[in-house]
Amino acid sequence: MIQNFGRKKTSSIFKSLPVILILFIFLLVVVLSGNKMILAGQQKSKPEIRQKPSTVSGSAVNAPVIPENLLTVAEKSNYTATSRYHEVLAFISELQKISHNLVVQDIGTTAEGRRVPMLIISDPPIHTPQAARNLKKTVVYIQANIHAGEVEGKEASLMLAREVLLTPSHPYLSNLVLLVVPNLNADGNERISPENRRQQPGPEQGVGTRQNALNLDLNRDAIKLESPEMKAVVQNVLNRWDPAIIVDCHTTNGAYHQETITYSWPLNPNSDPELLAYQRDRLLPAIVRILKEKYRTLAVPYGMFRDWRDPSKGWITFEPQPRYFTNYTGLRNRISILDENYVHADYRVRVESCFHFLKAILDYASSRYEEIQKMIEEADRRTIQAGLNPSGRTFAVEYDLQPLLQPITINAYELEVIERPGGGFPQLKPTDRLKPVTVPYFASYVPKRTVAYPFAYLITVPDPEVREKLLTHGLLVEYLSDEVSLEVEVFSPKELKAAERPFQGHRLNQIKGEYRKEIRKFAAGSLVVRTSQPLGYLAAYLLEPESDDGLVVWNYFDRYIAGQWQRGLSELPVYRLLQPVKLPAVSLSK
Ligand SMILES: [Zn+2]
Repeated sequence: MIQNFGRKKTSSIFKSLPVILILFIFLLVVVLSGNKMILAGQQKSKPEIRQKPSTVSGSAVNAPVIPENLLTVAEKSNYTATSRYHEVLAFISELQKISHNLVVQDIGTTAEGRRVPMLIISDPPIHTPQAARNLKKTVVYIQANIHAGEVEGKEASLMLAREVLLTPSHPYLSNLVLLVVPNLNADGNERISPENRRQQPGPEQGVGTRQNALNLDLNRDAIKLESPEMKAVVQNVLNRWDPAIIVDCHTTNGAYHQETITYSWPLNPNSDPELLAYQRDRLLPAIVRILKEKYRTLAVPYGMFRDWRDPSKGWITFEPQPRYFTNYTGLRNRISILDENYVHADYRVRVESCFHFLKAILDYASSRYEEIQKMIEEADRRTIQAGLNPSGRTFAVEYDLQPLLQPITINAYELEVIERPGGGFPQLKPTDRLKPVTVPYFASYVPKRTVAYPFAYLITVPDPEVREKLLTHGLLVEYLSDEVSLEVEVFSPKELKAAERPFQGHRLNQIKGEYRKEIRKFAAGSLVVRTSQPLGYLAAYLLEPESDDGLVVWNYFDRYIAGQWQRGLSELPVYRLLQPVKLPAVSLSK
């Protein structure tokens, strides 16, 4: 029987009887033969755990009974629908009736004018970030529906909020403050249609769109911040609340395997290396263990086979640029977890797996909050130190992707390949034959080309958009109060190539050029951005001339580099100050 595992419908028990009987006899033979294949039989039983997952109330320790009015749209519809905007708001209102520990604030408004509510769950209830700091609690931010076709996180985060609020003195709230934005891309969510994401089994009534109403992908917007939604997240969640842990919920598009959760840590090699290693080697493996042992849900790092015809070539992750939200928050020295629910599992399994993953994260976070807090504070300190003493430090502008030291095991399926007449990408169907593979995991981006890490950047054009962008990211921006002469590195572009096809409304630049040291006079009013700040790596990413995801790439300096009536290219009005020096500078931010 060749059938997509996730698409299997629960057929009547009578129809399944012969299959069950054959399976039973097969297992019996295997057991009696004493063959090692029993292992495969045991693994085979695992999908059943996920196929018919325990009910929500049954899966949690001491989970409360859920009253009718507190069922999510997914639950009420028997997993044929996902909640619309007004249903999310109505659900939140119901939650407000049951607990004082919920405060709701809007983080902003979508392009179409919908307010985006954030649930602030704390015991005692709080209204401000300062109150969270006074309580000395660790702030965790859970974000869902950034891609409104990937609705599992929206449903699961509402279930999570309900469980925490229904449970008196929930243990999570002893040490954590939870921030939940269940429906970030609220405009995309209102475009629900069964035509969206047709590759996934359910919900029958459809899901929203990936893009927001401005046709922007919010998960490519973390650097340029052109969507009101991402701007709201950065300004009103990250800058204000400074969560220690950030979780962004998605659903995969690719490979077939047993695991219903895939995940990633931040990937950019310009992030703090110790914090990155902590997430990859300690925090996430521990969370995955909890997920398996306590919630009986399997997880594997996010990826796809480099060559599906030959899995031994390895499993490969996604791109490292901080335009992706979790890479971005990693660059900000915070714990960042990408949740990618497994597309081929049925809708209910996807929602419940995501719910379990969120709980496993919070189980870990609430018991190890001191360790987490210490890790991010140390990363901030190291970042400031790197900016104060940049000598010998580098910033990577090109990367190589290499496998991690340890291979990973993916509980994959044998595929049936159906070639298409006339060539083209063949149709792939998973069989029900398990084929676990242990392969290299290409998830380590290492610097291929670096530049010296500077002490500060100086910007000589009074560009309100650039200034605004830097401030929106929460950077400390200063201006020179007096004219000053400084030895800086000047970047002269030699080649500026804009992409032929626009991407997110931009023709992304590739720039090549030369650096030369010069003594320059900088007028009073020139902007200064030091790297000796907690967001120092982000500052460099935005302003470094050859950064692969900086403001040059996103066209913010085009008009200065390629001026009117000019054949060649002009120097970039961003200058690299390499040596620490005392500057007559005043903060722009109040
Ligand atoms: Zn996504």
